[in-house]
Amino acid sequence: MPINLGFIGYGGMAGWHHRFLEKIDGVTPIAAYDIDPKRVELARENELIGYDTLDELLSNKDIDLVLVATPNDVHCELTCKALKAGKHVICEKPVAMSVAELDQMIATAKECGRLFTVHQNRRWDKDFKIAKEIIDSGKLGNVYAIQSRLHGSRGAMEGWRGLVQFGGGMLLDWGVHFIDQAYNICGWDDLVSVKCETKNVITPEVEDYFNLIFDRKSGGYYQIEIGTYVLKELPRWMILGDKGTTYINDFSRSGATVTLNRGDDEFPTQVIMTSAGPTRTFAPQPDGVKDEAELPDTKADLTEYYSNVRDAIEGKAELLVQPWQVRKVLHAIMSAFESAKTGKQIEL
Ligand code: NAD
Repeated sequence: MPINLGFIGYGGMAGWHHRFLEKIDGVTPIAAYDIDPKRVELARENELIGYDTLDELLSNKDIDLVLVATPNDVHCELTCKALKAGKHVICEKPVAMSVAELDQMIATAKECGRLFTVHQNRRWDKDFKIAKEIIDSGKLGNVYAIQSRLHGSRGAMEGWRGLVQFGGGMLLDWGVHFIDQAYNICGWDDLVSVKCETKNVITPEVEDYFNLIFDRKSGGYYQIEIGTYVLKELPRWMILGDKGTTYINDFSRSGATVTLNRGDDEFPTQVIMTSAGPTRTFAPQPDGVKDEAELPDTKADLTEYYSNVRDAIEGKAELLVQPWQVRKVLHAIMSAFESAKTGKQIEL
């Protein structure tokens, strides 16, 4: 039996889900509700049943699974209503505006015996999968610094994303993805504290820049820096180990792992003259000493996300994006806000 899906909120992201679901066997979008009548009309043009009220959508007994894809401030209310109507729910990220809201959603799912998960799709990004594979392989030796960065130059956050009341700002919008990636790379018990700075560079109400550093129990640090107004971008990833360095330029496979093909004791020490004076430590390596290996072509298939939700609903698989994981990520975001406000390092 196919799982029938209904959209709550049929904006930009729901449209993406609608197109993407063509690739998924066993999950069929059949209906949508939106507060904006124009979006309901669009849903009808896209061959969905378009509902003008939430109750009508939730009363349709053919709908098994609901996707909540509205602005963030109403995720909790809409998710809980859908669960109480007997629907399984995928909620878009960031799952909620506070940990208290999320706890309410988790408790409601439990009471109603329905599946509840969140669309943490960036666990399937190519660059993230490559970074994780390289770190797990041990090729870089002891990894003492992971820098996950996103610089853009388009500037201010648009529409509701620029407003506090809707849960706007970069920590909730993109931080949620990159913190989820951090836990998936380091392990769910490895991030022990967070220090964060936020800035409103050109967006008046919410942070359009943040720089966050997690201390790791296993040693070293994990940095996440996101800025929407950085006019010369740095690589998406820098991963520093005592046997090599990996850089990944963007969301693709562009980058390399750099290692040395001679032992440290084989390097001739040589002082070079720079415009700022002599240096031995920062003299460039002689030609031929650095090896640049291409990045692995790690599989990154986002269809696994929906296949897993389908299989979990059918009792054939464990859910990959678990509510307790989402809770850890949201708690880390709230701790980052607290750190930015107080200037203190916050224990997680
Ligand atoms: P959007 O503004 O394009 O669409 C939101 C839609 O929700 C609009 O059509 C709006 O009319 C409707 N809406 C607002 N309040 C509603 C309510 N109470 N009931 C029903 N409909 C309502 O925004 P978007 O870009 O589609 O973002 C929606 C959600 O998806 C957000 O939570 C966002 O963070 C998330 N998102 C996730 C990703 C991802 O990569 N996972 C990417 C983009 C957006």
